Amino acid sequence: MSGYIDKIQKISAQLLADKKVDMVIGFRKGTMPMINEPCTAKEPDDVGKFVWDSFCVMNLANYLTNRKEKIGIVAKGCDSRNIVNHIIENKIERDQLTIIGVPCTGMIDKNKVYSTIGKDIIEVKEEDDNILVKGRDFEKTINKSDVLRDNCAICIHRNPVIYDELVSDKVEEQKDVDRYEDVRKIEAMGSDEKWNFFDNLLAECIRCYACRNACPLCYCPTCFVDESRPQWVGKSQDPTDIKTFHLLRAYHCAGRCTDCGACVSACPMGIDVRQFTKKLEKDCFDLYGWEAGLTIDKRPPLDTFKPDDPEDFIK
Ligand code: SF4
Ligand code: SF4
Ligand code: SF4
Repeated sequence: MSGYIDKIQKISAQLLADKKVDMVIGFRKGTMPMINEPCTAKEPDDVGKFVWDSFCVMNLANYLTNRKEKIGIVAKGCDSRNIVNHIIENKIERDQLTIIGVPCTGMIDKNKVYSTIGKDIIEVKEEDDNILVKGRDFEKTINKSDVLRDNCAICIHRNPVIYDELVSDKVEEQKDVDRYEDVRKIEAMGSDEKWNFFDNLLAECIRCYACRNACPLCYCPTCFVDESRPQWVGKSQDPTDIKTFHLLRAYHCAGRCTDCGACVSACPMGIDVRQFTKKLEKDCFDLYGWEAGLTIDKRPPLDTFKPDDPEDFIK
């Protein structure tokens, strides 16, 4: 990863020195192990803080909404697809951006590391395909592939789909992955079983909205859950209100979700909210052959209208 870091820092410093961008958005080390934070560099001397490893889980496209500056942005495969979404949805102009593409080998789920270790962790270092985990009285090596985030384990778009610079050769894309095994299991359930599944899934939700805030798709000036006139959804911890929030948010993401996993990584309760968005991602793929964010040249199926649409309901 040190090659990636050198390249990211070098490209960023050059872009800032040449005044091609006003800022570069990337990651710096967080104060806790296994958490890198989004950050910006505005001067060439600032770029030394930029890092890259398998803990850059957040989706940096989230920081582009309605920006007016010229921006350099570090983008792995999923970030680049959300950048495409942002361009299509007029949230940023393509020519405002210099995209520093990072071919990705998957990001690590820190909760999987904690449950594998079962003890307090002081330091984590990445070495090739392994991570070295250190605590007060132990050191343990874990294979990265055993603790990948679930979405990364099935990702088939690890290379950036749009970029101006690339920090390394492209990585080989994963093939023959079953992306929707979990969705099919839920689809096969009866109504009561499905209800119980989602009841249990959301039982721990504290309605903190971290999942929404981490998602680049959730950029409405006022989210429907925060509206008070009219109040669309109750503000309580009532299970109905919690389910309404998650179901409606998932529908707002239909045909737009890139399965980047930022929502899950942000959740303090470890809830796999992708169980909602993935069903709609699968439906968009099955019904329209659509995967979000792969090209700026096509409109998503749910924001286009064709007079000759074969579906009767549209006429
Ligand atoms: S979803 Fe794909 S591109 Fe995004 S972090 Fe995971 S492996 Fe990388
Ligand atoms: S981040 Fe987790 S706890 Fe917070 S609202 Fe989303 S699912 Fe609920
Ligand atoms: S809903 Fe979750 S997985 Fe989908 S784009 Fe938003 S943060 Fe990423």
